[in-house]
Amino acid sequence: MRIEPIQADITTLDVDMVVNAANTSLLGGGGVDGAIHRAAGPELLEACRAHGGCPTGEARLTPGFGLPARWVAHAVGPRWRGGDRGEAEALASCYRAALALADQVGASSIAFPAISTGIYGYPPEKAAQVAVEALRQAKTKVEVAYLVAFDRPMLDTYRRLLGAPGAQ
Ligand code: ADP
Repeated sequence: MRIEPIQADITTLDVDMVVNAANTSLLGGGGVDGAIHRAAGPELLEACRAHGGCPTGEARLTPGFGLPARWVAHAVGPRWRGGDRGEAEALASCYRAALALADQVGASSIAFPAISTGIYGYPPEKAAQVAVEALRQAKTKVEVAYLVAFDRPMLDTYRRLLGAPGAQ
């Protein structure tokens, strides 16, 4: 699987699956979750409601409805509580769980936001390390995974960790 860092609004991406940084209720929130629900339309909330929630470190599948993406994997990242409460393992588990759903539906492209680095307070550099390592180790049929940075510093972090050309 290729791993590509990009800076974008994830709701605009024409990929087979986008990953949402959801909370355990799956009933919507702020940040990327709010943006995905606004772009997908109200059917997404109904599809999420049918799952009845999702534990931290796992992911649940819905269609993308109004999104360009056909599928959404709603992954629940950990809240940062200092780093010694299993946060890294839970975050890595989100990436693996989303890829498992992608394999289940035969997705060949997937886009991940920087799960847990917004409202959940995970230090961006540490989260990016976990993301890159989890994706590098993954056994999957997915061909390309986009690591989507919402801002320039996050893009630079991903590029540096991936050794991409032009990295700072
Ligand atoms: P969490 O609760 O898991 O921390 P947030 O949605 O608060 O989730 O933030 C996760 C990351 O998503 C942050 O890095 C934030 O900048 C980013 N983000 C917010 N909106 C978008 C968007 N539309 N596209 C891509 N990334 C986004």
